[in-house]
Amino acid sequence: MKELLDGLVEKNKALIKYGQVANYIPLLGNADPKDLGVCIIDNLGSIYSSGIYNKKFTIQSISKVIALMLAIMDKGEEEVFKKVGMEPTDEPFNSLYKLDIPYGDKPANPMINAGAIVTTSLINGNGEEKLNRLLEFLRKITGNDTINYNEEVYLSEKTTGNKNRAIAYLLKNKGLIEEKVEDILDIYFKQCSIEMDCQDIAKIGIFLANKGRVLNTGEKLLDNKTNSTIIAIMTTSGMYDFSGEYAVRVGIPSKSGVSGGILASVPNRLGIGVYGPALDQYGNSIAGYGILKDLSEELNLSIFT
Ligand code: GLU
Repeated sequence: MKELLDGLVEKNKALIKYGQVANYIPLLGNADPKDLGVCIIDNLGSIYSSGIYNKKFTIQSISKVIALMLAIMDKGEEEVFKKVGMEPTDEPFNSLYKLDIPYGDKPANPMINAGAIVTTSLINGNGEEKLNRLLEFLRKITGNDTINYNEEVYLSEKTTGNKNRAIAYLLKNKGLIEEKVEDILDIYFKQCSIEMDCQDIAKIGIFLANKGRVLNTGEKLLDNKTNSTIIAIMTTSGMYDFSGEYAVRVGIPSKSGVSGGILASVPNRLGIGVYGPALDQYGNSIAGYGILKDLSEELNLSIFT
């Protein structure tokens, strides 16, 4: 496995030159586009890594998966999906115009920014309590007590995140969030700024692959139904407006973030974390996608075969 990963990292480095690091959040622009790493954990706990796998990066949209878990645990599926849809969309992740058309009653799904701001708002607790619960949950899943958010990236996004501000005001106007706009955005920006490395991400992947059971402790944190809902939403909406093609070409439930991370979970088998900050036009790690596509072919990982 280690040799396979080394080979795939080397091969897919060739794609990096076709991608670009996100810089609409200024601090993300400091990432090194040449970085590429991967970590895989199987359900026996064996860990295989290659490339730049132990560098920390902010998880950005990968946090939307965790927010959805907590929102469903706290409020139940019915309540959550009253306020956010479960349909894939061909809109970019930060689109807002459908929120302002008469029949645009709720965000398409919890993996786009509008939907994620709603799910964050549905997590029990006031302000910082929501964030602390997110952090605690992630620490339990990964067994890594050092997980925290990066203050500088948070401030960088808070200063420049006016599109998310516009989205949140539309959500507020539609009665989909209860908190003050700035208060909920504060939590959303902080959750996007949580830092992890590929191994932490792979731990989330194997947690989902094992139906919500923590690999090291055996603790069951998600019921089976919630776990399959998360896996389904990742499959249909996790890779931005590329999710359909990704399902065809890779077929692994995944969620990516604009910092270049990808969380992937092969049910009953593997958790995978990938990092490569050079992005394609959809906002997915261009070489990370290459690695997952090759891995899926090599190890026959598509859930559709
Ligand atoms: N914090 C980012 C934003 O809201 C997350 C986007 C992403 O990773 O897709 O723009």
